[in-house]
Amino acid sequence: MAAQRVGFLGLGVMGKQMAQRLLKKGTEVVVWNRSADKCAPLVALGATALATPAEVVDACSVTHGMLADPKASEAVCLGPDGVASAASAGKSYLDHSTIDEATGARLAAAVAATGARFLAAPVSGGWRDAAAGELLFVCGGDKRLFDEVTAPGASLAVMGSKHWHVGDSSEGPARAKLMLQIMMGTYVAALGETLALAGKAGLDQAQVMDMFNSSAMANPISKAKGQLMIDGDYAPNFQVYLQQKDLRLALQLADDLAQPAPLAAAANAQYVAARKRGHAHDDFAAVKAAYD
Ligand code: NAP
Repeated sequence: MAAQRVGFLGLGVMGKQMAQRLLKKGTEVVVWNRSADKCAPLVALGATALATPAEVVDACSVTHGMLADPKASEAVCLGPDGVASAASAGKSYLDHSTIDEATGARLAAAVAATGARFLAAPVSGGWRDAAAGELLFVCGGDKRLFDEVTAPGASLAVMGSKHWHVGDSSEGPARAKLMLQIMMGTYVAALGETLALAGKAGLDQAQVMDMFNSSAMANPISKAKGQLMIDGDYAPNFQVYLQQKDLRLALQLADDLAQPAPLAAAANAQYVAARKRGHAHDDFAAVKAAYD
């Protein structure tokens, strides 16, 4: 197969939109997903679906992965028929999943051992940003690969509007991404807590939200999530189980560094409670349900 094809592994909420963005901008895309049925919409747009990550890596010079969590990233990269089993000099693998630095280091080492290049490149932004090519990429690893994939028309340039190279290892991006997730997770949990209390206090939640969004505390997340919480509309964008995973990883980092993170710990407990109430695969606005 031609060397310029781009591979894409993991077609969940984000991966589907990222692969679709590449296709719509004229990139030839080869896809794989654990649940094969999720390949069909991409194939309908012109993608080729293959049976294993190894087959995708074999077919493409650059392959991207967008998987749920550390376990998924490891399974796809290091498992049987995984990325590392087919990688070799001349191949490149970029993992965009939000994972911890130890997992990132294991992936980087396994890929480097084959002679291939690796970039840890977690993203900020939701599926709408992915569809518009406006994701923010926090990258660490091979700098030449970073320069190549962010050049005009290359895959990361097509999928994102901003790219940072924060160091030569996967540690920097893993840590930086978790900083973003602490802010987002604690903020949205606080919003849920406030709205639940407002309801209990007999206040008009929509009016409280309007006051909030007219004040210095307004921001895109409060505007996006407040009304969804009031409506109990938890159609998945960024799922509870993923935000809770990010807080879990952030707390592990804080623990490793002996750095207190009590707000993140409290927020994490509320996402765990939302999971327990059956909201794992709802949007993380459903953290409000932990207070109902
Ligand atoms: P998602 O919709 O839940 O998709 C998860 C993907 O991982 C699916 O393709 C799933 O395959 C695959 N997967 C899970 N376990 C696997 C395993 N053991 N082996 C192989 N594949 C496995 O998640 P998402 O929203 O796309 O998020 C993907 C990553 O991006 C996460 O790390 C998340 O934290 C991060 N992120 C998400 C957003 C967002 O707004 N959603 C924004 C920024 C970053 P199946 O289809 O077979 O289940």
